[in-house]
Amino acid sequence: MIEKDVVIIGGGPAGLTAGIYLKRARLDTILIEKLAVGGQIILTDVIENYPGFPEPITGMELANRMKDQAKNFGLEIISDEVLEIKKNDEKFIVKTWGEEFSCKGIVIAAGSQPRKLNIPGEVKFTGRGVSYCATCDGPFFKDKKIVVIGGGDTAIEEGLYLTKHASKVYIMHRRDKLRATKILQERAFKNDKIEFIWNGLPQSFEGENKIEKLMYKDKLSGKKNELVIDGIFIFVGIAPNNDFIKKSNIGLKLDEKGSVIVDKDLKTNIDGIYGAGDIIKKSLYQVVTAVGDGAQAAFNLQKYIEEKYNG
Ligand code: NAP
Repeated sequence: MIEKDVVIIGGGPAGLTAGIYLKRARLDTILIEKLAVGGQIILTDVIENYPGFPEPITGMELANRMKDQAKNFGLEIISDEVLEIKKNDEKFIVKTWGEEFSCKGIVIAAGSQPRKLNIPGEVKFTGRGVSYCATCDGPFFKDKKIVVIGGGDTAIEEGLYLTKHASKVYIMHRRDKLRATKILQERAFKNDKIEFIWNGLPQSFEGENKIEKLMYKDKLSGKKNELVIDGIFIFVGIAPNNDFIKKSNIGLKLDEKGSVIVDKDLKTNIDGIYGAGDIIKKSLYQVVTAVGDGAQAAFNLQKYIEEKYNG
């Protein structure tokens, strides 16, 4: 068992910011990340709404800068997956594949993953023309016809990015108004390679060895249609990475979507456990809010530890 003051679960902008603040508070802190440090932003081509970067910065570069900054303050970062949180008298035990950490407090910043459509053919054709990551798979669709499903910021931003590679990008949305922010909408409406399919409800994905057709229904007329395409990119929202929370028997409260419920101080219903970033229930999911959450969660956790252990 390794003793720490704080364990941060997740290495996206929220977790890395919490790490900077906790290390500056001189708390012995470890950050555990199961995939790549940086989180979802490393899959984003450019970020243009994070203040301080008048020239858009790539998600990868912003993530690397945050990581380097956290490491400069001595944050220990390890690659492992958290499987369960347990309570042991006054302390928490964070169990991973490789280790058990005993700690006074936890920041849960495990982020989110793309939500699935859960329709026939989706699993079969994932990696065979169906993707959830434009920067990873976009280059495979040079001069091809693709369809993006969704109408939020991610669908429109990634749809715009995909026009750099594809010859044609359909954007299929289930309503006739986009949810995405206006500046992205304006760019998409102006882009000659983008064509919108409004009120389109995806029904199934079809093909032999790779994706060939998207079957969909017109929401208004009920008419069934097919779209012949080379690729499908799905951006229909995010789902919190909460498997380890569901496996933990500590009574941490989640909302109906599985997001961690926090109060205005970013505290969960359990003393000593705070939440930050995409995994919490909140109204705005952005890098700038994740960073703010991380700072606030760390600050309040530090106060809690001081009062409980030194006060
Ligand atoms: P989102 O905002 O939740 O949008 C999801 C979109 O998918 C919505 O248009 C929704 O339609 C549609 N959808 C949901 N379920 C569907 C289904 N079963 N079938 C068909 N369509 C479905 O998700 P997101 O775009 O991934 O963004 C997630 C968060 O990250 C948001 O808060 C967003 O603002 C943020 N984000 C920000 C930026 C940025 O600041 N540049 C970039 C990317 C993401 P309805 O509109 O009808 O609900």
